[in-house]
Amino acid sequence: MTTDNRPEFLLMSGGEAMLHPQLVRRIAEHARHIGARTYVLSGMFFAKSRRIPSAIRSAILAVDHFSASMDVFHEQEVPRKAVFKVLRQLLDEGTDVSLQIVGLGPDDPYLSDLVNDVRTTFDDRVPMFVAGVAPQGRARDWFTREQQTHPPVQQTPCSLAAWPVVGFDGNVTACGNQDVMDGNVPMPPHLLLGNILVDDWAIIKERCLSSPMVRALRTVGPQYLARNLGGRVCSGYCETCWLLSEDPSVPSQVARVADEPRTRALEVATELVTAEAGPVAFARQWGIARYAELVLLGLSEQERARCHA
Ligand code: SF4
Repeated sequence: MTTDNRPEFLLMSGGEAMLHPQLVRRIAEHARHIGARTYVLSGMFFAKSRRIPSAIRSAILAVDHFSASMDVFHEQEVPRKAVFKVLRQLLDEGTDVSLQIVGLGPDDPYLSDLVNDVRTTFDDRVPMFVAGVAPQGRARDWFTREQQTHPPVQQTPCSLAAWPVVGFDGNVTACGNQDVMDGNVPMPPHLLLGNILVDDWAIIKERCLSSPMVRALRTVGPQYLARNLGGRVCSGYCETCWLLSEDPSVPSQVARVADEPRTRALEVATELVTAEAGPVAFARQWGIARYAELVLLGLSEQERARCHA
């Protein structure tokens, strides 16, 4: 978020954003008009066509960054070869592209095969964010996380709680958690920032920056809050977050200390550490650590040095 009242970067994902290419183009053009940048994520259903359909091509040209989503299930619908062909064309035309890849874990042979294929085919020009599948979306019905024992809980700030996301119903949440967005879990009151029918960006931004619970999530993370303030620590990080307002004493304790100088000091220090850690640290936290460095592919030496600074 910028210091003035405009978003800095808008991500359009799905579902499948490219089913509405005119809307994607209009949002991208408006964003550019107000000085913001845009990024669209697509499952590439159109890659099997002989040529990129013209409306989709215009939408891709209008955004600042285009990312293709790939996993073993996607590949059964849209072959790798077709995705690579489109990415090759976009790269050669100067479009900024990347891949978001999901697999079963660090040892999934699908991931090593695909990563090697991308690196060889595109000569390390395409950055990749590689993450593990979670029991969300289509994987909700078949993927179960192994039971984890609970080690002593330390602060694990949630850097995603700084990323307001608009859902299909217009609700804006403090992060893009898929189960929250899809309504698979009751909306946690502490994550709801408003609705675009009635709230403009200035209001959403103000709530995101000032909400004591959202600030606390960004500073110490959900498990630390639950463990120390009486909430339930569940099997997962986000699962623990969803239940934090279940006991009203948790948000009220957070609100009570929100404006203490030591709370503010801790927030500022955490923000600095998180920002300075850079994109590889982000990819290590939210993706598969072994592949975290791949987010830097395609950058110049100078750009890479800035990311590690
Ligand atoms: S911990 Fe909470 S705020 Fe962070 S990503 Fe998960 S659900 Fe969103």
